[in-house]
Amino acid sequence: MQFPKAVCLRVDPDVMFPSAKDTKGIALAKATCAFCPHNDECMEAALATPAGRDEGVRAGTTQDERRKIRRRRAAATRKGQQALAA
Ligand code: SF4
Repeated sequence: MQFPKAVCLRVDPDVMFPSAKDTKGIALAKATCAFCPHNDECMEAALATPAGRDEGVRAGTTQDERRKIRRRRAAATRKGQQALAA
């Protein structure tokens, strides 16, 4: 998904797809997102993308970080549903 004022549209596309071990590259990609006005909607779009198909840094997070966010959200949802059922 693209956003009209996305900062990543103005950088080399490779910047947003650093390898998992490229800490400097990941930091650069995250810094790119830090100046973007679309962080919130970009994060929701990235989280709505099936895990494994959301490569690259998006909304200042890596693919692994988004996987953890999905797990935490799913756990919180389950916990909320259990509380409502109790
Ligand atoms: S938050 Fe980052 S990945 Fe998302 S549109 Fe902005 S610059 Fe691109």
